[in-house]
Parts: sequence; C-alpha cells; structure tokens
Amino acid sequence: MSDRIYDVIIVGGGPAGLTAAIYTAREKLDTLILDKMFCGGWPNMTGVIENYPGFPEGINGMELSAKFKEQALKFGAEIREFEEVKGIIPGKIFEVKTPQGVYQARSLIVAPGSRMRELGIPGERELLGKGVSYCATCDGPLYRDKEVAVIGGGNAALEEALFLTKFASRVHLIHRRDKFRGEKFVVGELEKTGKVNFVMESLPVSINGENAVESVIVKNKVTETEESIDIKGVFIFVGVEPNTEFLRGVMDMDEGGFILTDEAMSTSTPGIFTAGDVRAGNVRQIVAACGEGTVAALSVRNLLVEY
Ligand code: NAP
Repeated sequence: MSDRIYDVIIVGGGPAGLTAAIYTAREKLDTLILDKMFCGGWPNMTGVIENYPGFPEGINGMELSAKFKEQALKFGAEIREFEEVKGIIPGKIFEVKTPQGVYQARSLIVAPGSRMRELGIPGERELLGKGVSYCATCDGPLYRDKEVAVIGGGNAALEEALFLTKFASRVHLIHRRDKFRGEKFVVGELEKTGKVNFVMESLPVSINGENAVESVIVKNKVTETEESIDIKGVFIFVGVEPNTEFLRGVMDMDEGGFILTDEAMSTSTPGIFTAGDVRAGNVRQIVAACGEGTVAALSVRNLLVEY
C-alpha cells in the first residue's frame, strides 16, 4: 500500500463519477477514479443520445463519454481503468482494495453503475453471444434482414427495438403487459416503421437453438397458449440491477441493493457519497447522473474544508 492519501477516490467512471471528478479535480482536490472497465459507463453502449442538453442534433454516446473523460483529465484527475474495486474499509482514512493494490482517501464517491437484469429462462445463458444479447448497439448490425425479438416494455426495450428496425427485417417486441412502461412517443415511432410485431401480454418461456438462436417460445397470459416465434437474435431489456455487492454491509441500501442517500448524496456512512444508477430513486438519465455527481462532489468539498 502506498503512503499517498487522496482527497477523494471515485469508484466508477460513468457520467456520475466523471462529472464528480471534473468538479473535485477543478477544486484542486487530489482525485482518483477507479473503473473496472474503461471509463464512460452506459453511454458507451448507446448510439445517438438525443436528450442530453446542449446537443440539439444528438451526440454519439462514446463521443460524449470521451469528452467527460477528457475534461476530468484536463483538471488533473488520475484515472485507473480495468481496476475493479473489491472492497472498502471505512475509517477516518478509507481503504479501497483492488486486485492491483490498496488505495487510501479522506472521502469516497461510489458510482459503480448498474448491469442488465437477466430473465432467468432456459437458453438465455446457454445461447449468450450466439444470438442472445443485452446490447443492440453492439450486436444489432449482425441481424441485417433477419428477424429478431426484443423482450421488455421499458424505455430501454422500446429504444433498442427502434434501433434494431434499421437492420432487422422484423422485430417481435414481447412484453408481459398490455401497456408499455416506456415513452408513448417511442411506441409511435415503432408503429411508424411498420416492421414491429407487438406481442403483448406474453411472457418468454425459453430461447431455443442448437448452436445459435433459432426461436423463442412465448406464453400468452390471457389465453395461456404458447407460440414459437422463429428469430435469429433475442435482445433482452428487462431492467437493471445495481453493482453494489462489494458495498454490502458498508452502507444502508434498499431491498433491491440500491444505496440510500440524503439530498447531499451522503450515504449512511460518514465520508462516503454516491451518485448515479446505484442510488435509490435515481431516474437513470445521463443528465441526472451528472447532476448527482455534481452534488456528491460539492458535498466532498464541504466535508474536506473541515479537515
Ligand atoms: P424498466 O423501466 O424497469 O423496464 C423493464 C421492463 O422489463 C418493464 O417493462 C418490465 O415489465 C419488464 N420486465 C421486468 N422483468 C421481466 C421479466 N422477468 N419478464 C418479462 N418482462 C420483464 O427498465 P429499463 O427499460 O432498463 O429502464 C430503466 C430506467 O432507465 C428507467 O427509468 C428508464 O426510463 C431509464 N431509461 C431511459 C432512457 C431514455 O430516456 N432515453 C433509455 C433507457 C432507459 P413491466 O412493465 O410489466 O414491469
């Protein structure tokens, strides 16, 4: 363990963590970001982002992430990528453990984001990467002129289904209720394409195929009948889960593992703040994650003034 004590260590380099770093580093606070992959978070997996203010024509997700990172580096933040935090030991000085070492800091901002929820049906894990996907931006172009299924009824499912209509000959959108949770506007856009088969009030039962996806079986909840739909790809968007396993016992969380905070983004452990998708009540919008990162950074600044 090095003797160096950072003012703040930020766990997670998505929009929340990078924005927090822009603020803390600009305040000349000694700032380290640790990210288990490369920085950027969810926007890296997204095509064009149309609702981030300041870009009326939209901006590519990776480009936006790169700009966040560039800005944090410009103000002097240190970034260590591919370094996954495995544990945190609270104290007046916090210890942050990764496979590569132990780092020390006077305060922490935890912003490790979330991951896709699995359906848990037969075929999902077995055919992952062989037609089962959780990222239309990554895999959509592989399905040019082929039929695909999208499972889910939230904004993610609707937006990714719309993206897939650019490539696929037909998109079967399978949702368990008769109404979508996601925005009506996007439902209208999906209808306009004429390429979407809305399979409502239906639950996926299994994903089938020998070495690649060939079909999905869905059960209609009203008629209780099962139907096999021939497709080459299945894209699953049934919500997200917080990446907070390594924080269990360190701070209070809700029953879903999302971190509880006050309006200053303080967790139940003094000196640890949080922001972004892992926070209970977060709305999973990039601009909201940036706002929460800002609040967490200002809270760190207020705390460290007392040092
Ligand atoms: P979500 O809003 O929680 O939607 C998950 C969907 O999956 C729901 O329609 C849910 O059905 C369905 N579902 C859950 N478990 C299922 C299961 N076991 N079997 C079948 N269906 C299941 O999740 P999300 O779409 O990932 O979005 C998460 C958050 O990010 C939301 O706040 C969303 O608004 C936000 N988001 C925003 C944008 C944007 O604004 N551009 C884009 C993406 C995401 P029910 O509806 O019946 O519960």
